[in-house]
Amino acid sequence: MAKKKKEIPLPVLPVGIEVIDTHCHLDMSRYQDDLEEVLDRACKAGVRRMITIGIDLASSRAAVALAAAHDGVFAAVGVHPHHVAETNADAYQELRELAKNPQVVAYGEVGMDAVRNYAPLPLQMEHFRRQVVTAKELNLPLIVHDRETHVEIMTVLAEEAPFPASGVMHCFSGDADLARRVVEMGFYVSIPGVVTFNNAAMMQEAVAAVPLDRLLVETDGPFLAPEPYRGRRNEPVYVLYTAQKVAELKGVTLEELSRQTTANAERLFGLKEG
Ligand SMILES: [Zn+2]
Ligand SMILES: [Zn+2]
Repeated sequence: MAKKKKEIPLPVLPVGIEVIDTHCHLDMSRYQDDLEEVLDRACKAGVRRMITIGIDLASSRAAVALAAAHDGVFAAVGVHPHHVAETNADAYQELRELAKNPQVVAYGEVGMDAVRNYAPLPLQMEHFRRQVVTAKELNLPLIVHDRETHVEIMTVLAEEAPFPASGVMHCFSGDADLARRVVEMGFYVSIPGVVTFNNAAMMQEAVAAVPLDRLLVETDGPFLAPEPYRGRRNEPVYVLYTAQKVAELKGVTLEELSRQTTANAERLFGLKEG
């Protein structure tokens, strides 16, 4: 008989304490039927602010519109490595204009991805560098996507440094050594729900290597739901499971981890109360 998976109740935050979901994709179709409920569940549980991330021109427009329509929702605009092949100079020009909206708190997500390879890596690198330069010109923090392209990403960032507005390695997937180098570069490390999986030893070591004042947490919803919802649709409220696991790994209370990661997100993204 199959063993039934244990349901872990949602962690409860003390009154006045919040956790910010620094990376989700609220414009995606998997939220189209119940977005208001998703936002309501998050808000009631203490996830009152979140950043919805653009992956191409259309989703960046949608992110800005969602942020304008909902208190506590902020936006990032940019072109994900999966979508660079179909992005032209006109689209980049419009993204640059979009980025000037007051709801936009970061440029991204941008980066490289050697797992799916929707575009050849040299082309991905060219678009990544172009957008890194744009983020610097706009003085916005960068949100970087890196899947098995650690060397390429770190090379571009080293060549384009310094980054006065800083940035974050979102959905961090490297080891403790890479985490230390990211922190040395002045960036933040954002931990996804994967950290709750029982095969996440390398990520758990990376968490241990990052100082508390450089950690962020995220869902990357609708993808990568943490335990106990692994394999299902992810949503912002589940960031609480991730925060709880990270707190445990850092040896601090959920309250302290929440205060610290919230302060970090406010500092990096210049967030105001939603
Ligand atoms: Zn990503
Ligand atoms: Zn993402």
